[in-house]
Amino acid sequence: MSDGPTYGFDTLQIHAGARPDPATGARQTPIYQSTAYVFRDADHAAALFNLQEVGYIYSRLTNPTVAVLQERLATLEGGVGAVCCSSGHAAQIMALFPLMGPGKNVVASTRLYGGTVTQFSQTIKRFGWSAKFVDFDDLDALRDAIDDDTRAVFCESVANPGGYVTDVRAVADVADAAGLPLIVDNTSATPYLCQPISQGATLVVHSTTKYLTGNGTVTGGCIVDSGKFDWSASDKFPSLSAPEPAYHGLKFHETFGNLAFTFHGIAIGLRDLGMTMNPQAAHYTLMGIETLSLRMQRHVENAVKVATWLEDDPRVDYVTYAGLPSSPYADRARRCYPKGTGGLFTVALKGGYDACVKFVDSLEIFSHVANLGDTRSLVIHSASTTHRQLTPEQQQAAGAGPNVVRISIGIEDADDLIRDLDQALAKACG
Ligand SMILES: *Cc1c(COP(=O)(O)O)cnc(C)c1O
Repeated sequence: MSDGPTYGFDTLQIHAGARPDPATGARQTPIYQSTAYVFRDADHAAALFNLQEVGYIYSRLTNPTVAVLQERLATLEGGVGAVCCSSGHAAQIMALFPLMGPGKNVVASTRLYGGTVTQFSQTIKRFGWSAKFVDFDDLDALRDAIDDDTRAVFCESVANPGGYVTDVRAVADVADAAGLPLIVDNTSATPYLCQPISQGATLVVHSTTKYLTGNGTVTGGCIVDSGKFDWSASDKFPSLSAPEPAYHGLKFHETFGNLAFTFHGIAIGLRDLGMTMNPQAAHYTLMGIETLSLRMQRHVENAVKVATWLEDDPRVDYVTYAGLPSSPYADRARRCYPKGTGGLFTVALKGGYDACVKFVDSLEIFSHVANLGDTRSLVIHSASTTHRQLTPEQQQAAGAGPNVVRISIGIEDADDLIRDLDQALAKACG
């Protein structure tokens, strides 16, 4: 499917980027399990290597199965291009790589996936990059945190672990006024519930490991480019606006226009960092995306039922689901996430740390795993696992205190989930 009428989300999640295989007519996208691709002749090879012609060279850079997934994700997010990579964390590094440099910083929300807090507060220092964390509900604090060395603003739309919801438009306006790109991690919302680009985001990153694949089979990541940022408006982004020595002085923005970031991500990012998605992973993720809207509807429906039940239970201290009318974010959720706020939230137990551990160990349908966004319901005690490397202050700021359990609601029968939670609470809370 290419030019033509504008199709709806349900149609695009099945068809975008894919067409019957030209060689065999295979209707499903084949897994092109090939490392390299034969050049037509030496001139063709030279044109490909000079980026004068687009085509397949070597699967570290591009692969036909992965390319279908890239086009599908770009379409669903409303971007111009996408680069897939080996994991969500790889996608974050790949998104920052063309923007950052030694001494430069990213201003990030305090409410992030625990692994991202660690990646940003510790590991990126090895590249000479740094992160400043602020509460993105406080737009003045966000403005104040941005300085001359800031090169990006980063947040999650629906944020881990508490299902906190970001007002992407408000954050994008601040980034825009500062002449900076906004990167939104849209993993927990998925493009079905939120399209950050339509609200002003420059880049969208995903852990495709989660809801997009949806069945807990493969890790993967993706960066979708809005194509809307003017990389040449200042001298802050030389990787995209200045001559690139590795391609004979080619300037990505001048040469590729609104596809500059995407081309850079493949021609420099994947070529030299090598965080490539393999075609098997792309296949599983393509299979998952075909049912994304159906699954997300059920995740939301179940999460509302379960969160409502938990909130009314006397053994429960509080539930953080933004989809509850009692949530301090209920108005924002209705305004910015009209189809719902996903299947992720935390529940705080009155019994504290000990009750949480016993609760997690007593569940039968829910699996205790370090994952989210599976068809299966999942649970984890963040403070002792995913958010373990964080300081107590960081844990509190991220909504992952010791009395809190993160729940990722699956697409099973809601009544069965509630019965399971009830019996585990009985064991945990006496
Ligand atoms: C899981 C996750 C990541 C990291 O993705 P991986 O595929 O595990 O590397 C990043 N952001 C969010 C919101 C996640 O849930």
